[in-house]
Amino acid sequence: MLTHKNIVVVGAGFGGMYTTKRLAKKLKKNHDVTITLIDKNPFMTMETSLHEVAGNRVEPEAIEYDLQRLFSRRKNVNVVTDEVFQIDRENKCVMARHGSYPYDYLVLGIGAEPNDFGTPGVKEHGFVLGNIEDAVRLRDHIDDMVRLGARERDPEKRQAYLNFVVVGTGFTGTEMAGELNSWRPELAQKYHLEPDDIKITMMEMAPTVMHMLDPNDAAKAVKYMTKHGIEIKTSTGVVGVHEDYIDLKNGSKFLTHTLIWTAGVKASSQADKLGFEQGRGGRIIVNEYSQIPDDPHIYVIGDVALYDEDGTGRGQPQVVQGAESAGKTAWKNILAQLNNQEPVKFKGNYQGFMVSVGPAWGVAYLLNTFHLSGFFAILMKDLVDMIYFIEIYSGYYLFHYIMNEWFRIKRPTLWRGNLNRYGNVLWTVPLRIFLGMMWLVDCWYKVQGSGSWFTNKLQLHFPWLVEATSGASSKAATSGASDKAAQSAPALFSLNYDYGHSPMAVFDQMPQWMQNITKIFIPNKVIALAAQKAMTVTEIILGLCLVLGFCTFVAGGLSAVFVAIFCLSGMNYWVNVWMVFAAIAVMNGSGRAFGLDMWFVPWLERTLGKARYGVMRPIYYSNNSDKK
Ligand SMILES: Cc1cc2nc3c(=O)[nH]c(=O)nc-3n(C[C@H](O)[C@H](O)[C@H](O)COP(=O)(O)OP(=O)(O)OC[C@H]3O[C@@H](n4cnc5c(N)ncnc54)[C@H](O)[C@@H]3O)c2cc1C
Repeated sequence: MLTHKNIVVVGAGFGGMYTTKRLAKKLKKNHDVTITLIDKNPFMTMETSLHEVAGNRVEPEAIEYDLQRLFSRRKNVNVVTDEVFQIDRENKCVMARHGSYPYDYLVLGIGAEPNDFGTPGVKEHGFVLGNIEDAVRLRDHIDDMVRLGARERDPEKRQAYLNFVVVGTGFTGTEMAGELNSWRPELAQKYHLEPDDIKITMMEMAPTVMHMLDPNDAAKAVKYMTKHGIEIKTSTGVVGVHEDYIDLKNGSKFLTHTLIWTAGVKASSQADKLGFEQGRGGRIIVNEYSQIPDDPHIYVIGDVALYDEDGTGRGQPQVVQGAESAGKTAWKNILAQLNNQEPVKFKGNYQGFMVSVGPAWGVAYLLNTFHLSGFFAILMKDLVDMIYFIEIYSGYYLFHYIMNEWFRIKRPTLWRGNLNRYGNVLWTVPLRIFLGMMWLVDCWYKVQGSGSWFTNKLQLHFPWLVEATSGASSKAATSGASDKAAQSAPALFSLNYDYGHSPMAVFDQMPQWMQNITKIFIPNKVIALAAQKAMTVTEIILGLCLVLGFCTFVAGGLSAVFVAIFCLSGMNYWVNVWMVFAAIAVMNGSGRAFGLDMWFVPWLERTLGKARYGVMRPIYYSNNSDKK
């Protein structure tokens, strides 16, 4: 008989999240297995975007993904917010601050942290970028320094405030310097400075920079950065950090209050206390199955693990793709162990590298083939991030990612600010009301008198309906628009009604493909009569929704579709085509700016969120047994 098995995953970073999601899916029908995901935070942090918070591009919440939400549909996963400090291997139990968690299989993915290699003063006076708190602290400090610098009369002291030094030219350093540089004009404007008053300097101990990149890509990045005012000093070691200056290896001092240390990472210091054999940078040594060599029930993945594949002792790269590759080995091998199958070996799957230099420019090397820079590199970076949300099955956070990176932005991104949602949508409110009124006015004529669409008189002059009722040829049965056009003097393409002319219909006759589709939905007169009434009612509803700002996004979208259908049906004139564009324009949230959506949309979000994700529990609650 199969006994109940506990799989415990510690660390909901890139590796742990991926592993848990896969295990949860693969084991969803296996009621003999429970998965417990423990992280010290109630959210997953998208570490690769920390520089965006530190550089004030996005708010911290934009890169925090709530674990309860991510696993609300997975009844076989318990999400626990707790900090693990020990592993009792004898009793197979994970010890954390607020409880202990027995395991049959353990996956450890507690990540890495910045490594200052013991450089004096970094801890006390420097800044790092290892987690959300670091990023927020750095962001606030940068703003503070520019504010103080702008008031300082002493030129040397002022320069110390306005000098920002990034040590290290890896992923983190390059992206941080790029982000800070894109923030510079805004900071300068805010505190009445010239952008050049704020100086950004990157310092690199080695004679060359950006070693994770192909040399040509690195050269492009250097060219871009220097052109945009970032100074890059190579062969420059930082050996000491003080409150308002740093010591360089050549004996000189460099004035600054802000040293951002990105020159190295080591395994999370928690790893030192777990009793496993450690290699370079404190990383826990694993075998080719991503397991602790003498304990096949414990897997270690991601930045904290070291698999010495090539015998150099360096281990696999500490990047997202490395964490995912190890996560894949772990979940496959746990399933193999559960099913008494052969284990698989770790296989690093590295599809390329991408580095952003600010929100609108970057370099990328993909699939060992394509070198990209600028717009396409950033687009690829965003797409790769989006793929991650697909991999962890989260449409919700995919949507939020797109909104945060492309729409809710504070400064131009790869789309040059064209998608910015922070424009004042209030100005489209009059357009929304006018559009709604147009629908209502249109319907006013459709609900009364002899031309009413609510009588049994057919108003939809589609050829097959007319043929069926009167036997007339389809030629004779063209649209109302073209009937009128035929009666009066020449039809005129125009955006207004020109006196003495007939307005030109967008299509004189319904195109054949449209006829084929429409025939499926409106095959005969009985359905046509019902359809014309339903259409009129829908138009009235659309009009009211737009006037009142209720469900504006949907009403705007449907308006655009309706007008487009009328045009294709030979029932609409060029002069009315503006309605399509107006309808698209009012989908920008104009109902929330001034309309019922101000109350309705938040209510809907709350209600749907509750239905899909359940009630969010406080963090102190530590198991999911009440998951509905
Ligand atoms: C600023 C920055 C930029 C980067 N840019 C890139 C990039 O562009 N491309 C790239 O491939 N990589 C990049 N990286 C590296 C990448 O983020 C890491 O390789 C990746 O996050 C490693 O994933 P992981 O699962 O091992 O650990 P992490 O993602 O670090 O997750 C570790 C998790 O463990 C949790 N944890 C830690 N200790 C405990 C404990 N004791 N108890 C419970 N939970 C614990 C943490 O809260 C965290 O959620 C960047 C890193 C940084 C910092």
